[in-house]
Order: sequence, then structure tokens, then C-alpha cells
Amino acid sequence: MSEIKYTNQEIEMMGRNELDELVDERVKYTVNYAYKNSPFYRKWFDRNSINPSDIQSHEDLLHLPIISGDTIRHNQPPETNYFEFKSVGWEDVFTVHETSGTSGVPKSFFLTWKDWERFAEKYKRTFTSQGFGPGDRVVVCASYGMNVGANTMTLAARDIGMSIIPEGKCTFPVRVITSYEPTGIVGNVFKLLRLANRMKKEGLEPSDSSIERLVVGGESFAEEARDYLSEIWGCNVFNTYGSTEGTMCGECSEINGLHVPEDFVHLDVYDPNMKEFVNDGECGRSVLTTLLPVGAKCGTLLINYDTEDTTIVRTRQKCSCGRTHMKIDNPQREAETFWVRGTPFNRVDIERGVFQRENMEYLTGEYESFLYSGNDEDETIMRVSLECIDPKKCDYEVVKENFLKSFFHHKPALEQAYLDETFSIIFNFTGPGELEFYRMKGRPKRVVDRR
Ligand SMILES: [Zn+2]
Repeated sequence: MSEIKYTNQEIEMMGRNELDELVDERVKYTVNYAYKNSPFYRKWFDRNSINPSDIQSHEDLLHLPIISGDTIRHNQPPETNYFEFKSVGWEDVFTVHETSGTSGVPKSFFLTWKDWERFAEKYKRTFTSQGFGPGDRVVVCASYGMNVGANTMTLAARDIGMSIIPEGKCTFPVRVITSYEPTGIVGNVFKLLRLANRMKKEGLEPSDSSIERLVVGGESFAEEARDYLSEIWGCNVFNTYGSTEGTMCGECSEINGLHVPEDFVHLDVYDPNMKEFVNDGECGRSVLTTLLPVGAKCGTLLINYDTEDTTIVRTRQKCSCGRTHMKIDNPQREAETFWVRGTPFNRVDIERGVFQRENMEYLTGEYESFLYSGNDEDETIMRVSLECIDPKKCDYEVVKENFLKSFFHHKPALEQAYLDETFSIIFNFTGPGELEFYRMKGRPKRVVDRR
């Protein structure tokens, strides 16, 4: 049992006013640092006729333009001769990282050793807030390599007194569990479900294993999927939201929202037109700004960066865990939001329908779906393919009914379209290993828009 509750108590429990002052101080310093050290930002300020000294507080960030992943790609080789976002000399660059490149040429990120320490500090706070402490042994299934997450998580463990088993993926042999008796695993929902199935086949019930906590991240998920994972493993499942851009938010012991490390990253939530901030409690696009401590150097910093994820600020009140840093909802990818007859829905809304508890008597949880145009111009057809544990023993009607009930409960406008027959949902049940995405490389595409 761990007795350490905080990594940096002074910062993590700082009162709101003091924390806001610290944020403003770091906004000012970061903006000035960017102007002096980042070729991209120098030109950006000049081009937009903004004097960096006019940016005095986090609210002033609203007056600056927003940049995107494409902005980074357009300002690095091969598009330009130089990495315009790199903001230190090579002598200060400790490592170079790249994003996965699923949406084009990978974005390059440069990290100084201090950047590593700051990234690790964010993970340290999250792990500690989840109850990890000295003596814990954690299998990291997040990928090492060019991705920054797994690497800096590993560094975080050093100061916690935690041991890391750096498998890099969830396909490790079951003996790793029985031999080292790890107390936690970092992975994603589906990989941890598959691992649980593999363990069961080898006679080890996940809930009887040494695992006391699971940490998931990498993509958004339905709460129903988390609940099911938690039931199978017989332990808590904590969410994290990390990215190479440096977010690293995480759920604490309370499991009701992810704490944003506000002293290291500033997060604004914008309306759909990207013109104004939305109120707390309202859904919008999350836009991040790196915050540097006064005097610090940074390899790559971002100001007003559109994460292309949507989220909601849940609260800025002090949490029951004692931390004062704001909490956000599990972000969802904008790219996984689809529109049917003027109503948006996300992949997560489909996932909810799949993971209805009764369905899990018949399904593995693996699914994929496709959107097609119908015969009529206005008609949309959604085909949902569900993988059955055993197609011969699946009660199709029960699964369909549960799915539709859940899906329409969250998207009532689509129920009307369904009744009007302008939106059809077709179900397809498959045996294990028969979904289309198994034949594709890379991260499974759960919703494919073929309209
Ligand atoms: Zn908390």
C-alpha cells in the first residue's frame, strides 16, 4: 500500500487564484520564449501583427490564431528546409519524436531533457493519484519507439519507486503475469480485453491475478466498455489522455473526470466556429498551449494548438482527492464524429450500444461499422458488424434490441430518422476473427464512412 498521495503537493493543491496567477505568469513567459526561439512563432506573431507583450493572461490567447497539425506539417521538412517549430539548438535536443502519422506525414517533436522531466512529472502525478506507489510493478503495453508516452511513463516510475515491465504491446506471454506478479497494466480497452481472454484460455482468471489496477488511454471509449473491462479484471480502470503534444491528463482515485496539469498545459475549449470559449459544462473543441516555467527551455512548444478532440470542462472546484486542477470529460475525436440528417454521433455512441451488459453474454466487444448512402439521396444506411463469442449461441434479437435502445437513448433525433426510414441500421454477426479490420494494418477503424 502506498502512503504517498501527491507528487508535488504545493502545485497540485494550489488554490484557484494562485494557480490562475501561475498560469498567467507562464503564458507570458511561454509566448515570449516562442517569439525569441521558435522560427514559426516569430513569423506568426509578426504576420498577425501581434506584439507578444500584449499577451498578459490566458484569456488573451483568444486573440491569437489557432494552429493545427497541418500547420506543423507545413512548417517542417519536406515542406520547408528547416523545422520551424524547433525552439532550441541541437545541443539541447535530447530526443526526437514523431506522431503516428495516421493523418499524413508524422509531426516531429523535439524534447530537451527538461521536457522529459516535465512529461514524466505529469505521469508521476497521475500514477500517484491512482494509488500507485513504491513496490508496484506495471506492465506498459503502450508502444515505445518514436512515441513519447511509454518512454516518459517509464521515467515517471523511477521516482515513484515503481518497477516497469516495458513490453510495449499487450501480446506478451501470460507467464509475465504469473512470474513477475505485476500490480498494474497500461494499455487500451480492447487490448486488455483480448489479453483477459488469452489468460482465461490458459486457465488464469484475470480477476484472480496479481493485477490491482488498469490504466487505459490512447483513444476514447464508452463508459460501458470500461465497466465491462473493470468487471472482467475485478479492479478499477483509470483513464489517461496523453499525446506527443504534451497533454497527459489523468483520472485520479475518484474516477470522475481527468485532471489537467494546469501548470504545464493550458487547455481552452472553443465553440464549433473556433471563435469563442464555451462555458464550463459545454462541449467544445479542445485547444492546448504549452506552459513553461519561467526560465525554462523547450524543444517544441505549441500555442493555441487545435487537438481536433472535443471535451467538456467538468469542474474547476477542488476534487475529493485534494487536487485543485480542473477536470475534463474523456475527450472524443472529432474525426470519429459522423453526421446523419443533421445529427452528429461519435464512434463512442456505437460502442455504448455494443457494450450493453446483457450483450456481453454473447459478444466479444469487437465491432466495426460502415455508413453507406441508400437508394434515395437522403437515405443513410449504417451496417454494424459484431463479433460473437459463438455465433451459434448468440441471441441476435436481444443484442439488436439492446443496441438500438442505447443508441437512440443518446441520439433521439436519429430514432425519428430511423422511424421515417431515412436512416437504417443493419446488423451483421460474425464469428471470432472475421471482422474486416483484422485484415487491415494498424489501428482498427471502427467506423468507416463510405457515403
Ligand atoms: Zn481528483
